Amino acid sequence: MLRGTTHFSKMLSKLIVLRLHTKVLTANIRLATVSTGANYSASLPTQAQIVIAGAGIVANSVAYHLVQNGWNDIVVVEQGKIGSGTSHFGSGTLGLFKPIAHRNLIWYSIKLYQELQQMGYDIQMKQCGSINLAQTKDRLIALKRRMAYNIPTGLYCELVRGRELQELHPYLNIDDIEGAVWVPEDAVVNPKSICDILATLAQQGGAKYVENNTVNRVLTKNKMVYVVETDQGNIFCDYFVNCTGMWARELGLQSNPQVCIPAYPAQHFYANTGPLTQGLQK
Ligand SMILES: Cc1cc2nc3c(=O)[nH]c(=O)nc-3n(C[C@H](O)[C@H](O)[C@H](O)COP(=O)(O)OP(=O)(O)OC[C@H]3O[C@@H](n4cnc5c(N)ncnc54)[C@H](O)[C@@H]3O)c2cc1C
Repeated sequence: MLRGTTHFSKMLSKLIVLRLHTKVLTANIRLATVSTGANYSASLPTQAQIVIAGAGIVANSVAYHLVQNGWNDIVVVEQGKIGSGTSHFGSGTLGLFKPIAHRNLIWYSIKLYQELQQMGYDIQMKQCGSINLAQTKDRLIALKRRMAYNIPTGLYCELVRGRELQELHPYLNIDDIEGAVWVPEDAVVNPKSICDILATLAQQGGAKYVENNTVNRVLTKNKMVYVVETDQGNIFCDYFVNCTGMWARELGLQSNPQVCIPAYPAQHFYANTGPLTQGLQK
């Protein structure tokens, strides 16, 4: 973020941490960006206090929290549709078995999503717990080390083996499993639904969403952001938040002056499974 009050900077630093997954740190503190997901297409304003690029889980969370904190002159610019980036593919695991700073973010997200669920929003949240498996002795030692710092800092988790493990997950083949860590408070949600709900709530608070529009460059004058160039035209603004996830580095390099964002996409595999209709045969 190149231009901004201390208040806005503090606010943003709190918001940036709300991304579901932080393997790749895309939020840039000197030139921030964000995004959302749903079917909203306002016409492009020529001026706004805050422009957010992207509309994934991070951008929607930033827009939602800004609105919650009294900011409403916000434009979210998304090159595709709200939530159509990596947030669309996330499995939505909210895993607490992590170092404390990361875990606090997940706690916050679980609490927020529980509130949304209680308000009647369909986010398909299930606090089903998770099992971290070890197939080798080395992996089990690594898991025990993680337990050793997680338990004293407030996370309930336990080591499980054999029949106990099988009871937790009846379809698991435990023949080659050395042991596992059970984290009962872990949860799953539908990340696309979260994107849509946060985008809707942000819009209700005044944020505008413009889909199918790409941010091309961010220009600064006297070390302050003053205009964001997009396919559909320019937006003069005070603050720019880069929430373009794995595209954040590219956008930073296209800006003037260039901003180097240490984000690099990594390959990720996933499989879609259907519901189980009968027990698995070993
Ligand atoms: C298969 C898979 C499984 C995952 N499982 C989990 C999990 O279980 N738990 C977990 O916490 N995380 C998980 N993740 C990671 C998680 O999904 C991501 O970390 C998270 O969704 C990133 O959100 P984001 O808002 O930063 O990025 P995105 O959702 O990618 O949003 C960025 C948006 O920016 C837009 N954009 C890019 N460039 C521009 C531009 N120049 N102008 C305008 N818009 C632009 C894109 O179109 C995109 O919509 C998983 C990821 C994958 C791929």
